[in-house]
Amino acid sequence: MYNTYLIRYGEIGLKGKNRPQFERRLMENMRRALSKTGSSRVERVYGRLVVESDAEPAQVLDRLSKVFGIVGVSPTLRLPLDMQAVSDGALQTLKDAAALVQLPPGASLTFKVEARRSNKMFPLTSPEINGQIGGYLLENIPGLQVDVHKPIIKVNVEIREKNTFVYAADVPGAGGLPVGASGKALLLLSGGIDSPVAGWMAMKRGIEIEAIHFYSFPFTGEKSLEKVRDLCRILANYTARIKLHVVHFTDIQKEIQKNCPEELRVTLMRRMMFRLSERIAGQQGALALVTGESVGQVASQTLESMQVINHVINIPVLRPLVGMDKVEIITRAQAIGTFETSVLPYEDCCTLFLPKHPATRPRLEQAEQAEQALNIEELLAGALDRTIVEIIKS
Ligand code: ATP
Ligand code: MG
Repeated sequence: MYNTYLIRYGEIGLKGKNRPQFERRLMENMRRALSKTGSSRVERVYGRLVVESDAEPAQVLDRLSKVFGIVGVSPTLRLPLDMQAVSDGALQTLKDAAALVQLPPGASLTFKVEARRSNKMFPLTSPEINGQIGGYLLENIPGLQVDVHKPIIKVNVEIREKNTFVYAADVPGAGGLPVGASGKALLLLSGGIDSPVAGWMAMKRGIEIEAIHFYSFPFTGEKSLEKVRDLCRILANYTARIKLHVVHFTDIQKEIQKNCPEELRVTLMRRMMFRLSERIAGQQGALALVTGESVGQVASQTLESMQVINHVINIPVLRPLVGMDKVEIITRAQAIGTFETSVLPYEDCCTLFLPKHPATRPRLEQAEQAEQALNIEELLAGALDRTIVEIIKS
């Protein structure tokens, strides 16, 4: 069984001076991802990241596939610096890899051995190692053929200071950057399809996420809040835990409903959401907001609306979905595991207060005029006072 894994992490290599810091972050995130799988070690060995774990390989690979920053994982044999042991290990590795290959009828299995020797004390050169191990594999597997250009299976042999690593498989990772490497942002998380995907995409770029949810109790019940917690739990698979701020939004909505023109309700509610988010972001050291908005989906997502809503804050707003179609967003939601939870039918706070004809092109002066009827500072303070913080773990 494989209990050693070599980790590839492409993009980090591009980041020059940041590299040690990124590597440390990645190792920490890997350790956290593996912490519940039994005993595991993450080390830096000869300039590579290596995981040792007693857990089931499928489980280890599943956990590591959710750690951003990892480009690929190769389950590996760690062998002594001994040609017989390495040849036998290469044979085992080739057989294991071949078991996963479906050959077209009549085709033969092709392979090549690719040796790299960083340990120059080892008595054979790389071409000699390739030749010896290749010969051994050909002797032991009938019908096997060498193909140095496009082999079906490539057996890698890395001769290092104290060990030899032998591997063939390369399981793709999630890519991106390690969460936490790019600072922190506050995700406006509704119970819908879009915002969880937006949060995932921000995390993929190394941004640590806290979530904020606006809650209209009792108009939306405990179940809709539980759904948001479930979405945090799923997102936490990619980062271990998420801090969720639940903001009591009902009083603000009622005040807007009572005092302001109906067609501006959505605009005004969003302006309040943004103001509250900016303040909580400030308290938490988050440097940006993240939303699931894209352009043109609904009334509040025209550029005119966004401009009027955005006007009340100074913090940057990231909208990772802006270039995606709905179908692409749904496909992504399915892949990351949030879709089924997102489509559960519980009310969203805004649908309850939705006007029949929301303004699609609100003007800034209109919004500012309408807000004269509200005591904004008092409303914000009241909502912040009643905000509850929860830590949601995967
Ligand atoms: P989603 O699928 O994320 O609900 P949506 O397509 O329904 O998005 P809107 O309802 O216009 O779009 O919301 C736009 C964005 O505003 C959401 O993606 C989310 O980031 C934020 N948002 C909306 N409602 C809430 C809420 N109750 N709590 C927190 N954020 C919210
Ligand atoms: Mg929504």
